[in-house]
Amino acid sequence: MSIFSTTCCGCEMEIRVGDRITAKKKHPCGSDRWLVLRTGAEIRMKCEGCGRVALFSPDEVKRMSKKTERDGERKD
Ligand SMILES: [Zn+2]
Repeated sequence: MSIFSTTCCGCEMEIRVGDRITAKKKHPCGSDRWLVLRTGAEIRMKCEGCGRVALFSPDEVKRMSKKTERDGERKD
């Protein structure tokens, strides 16, 4: 199975469209949850609180995320 993983700069974190990221820091709107809309050289995520869409580098996402959740799939 081929998946789109973000492995630039040797970072091992895998980010996929549909993943929900819980951030270490809260967005000004009070939400700390982001939904991944698009991956690649830049990662597009939507704040689940206010719906704002922002672009992050994979490295930024790696640093800011506390937890990643994936619907419908378990990865042990
Ligand atoms: Zn927000």
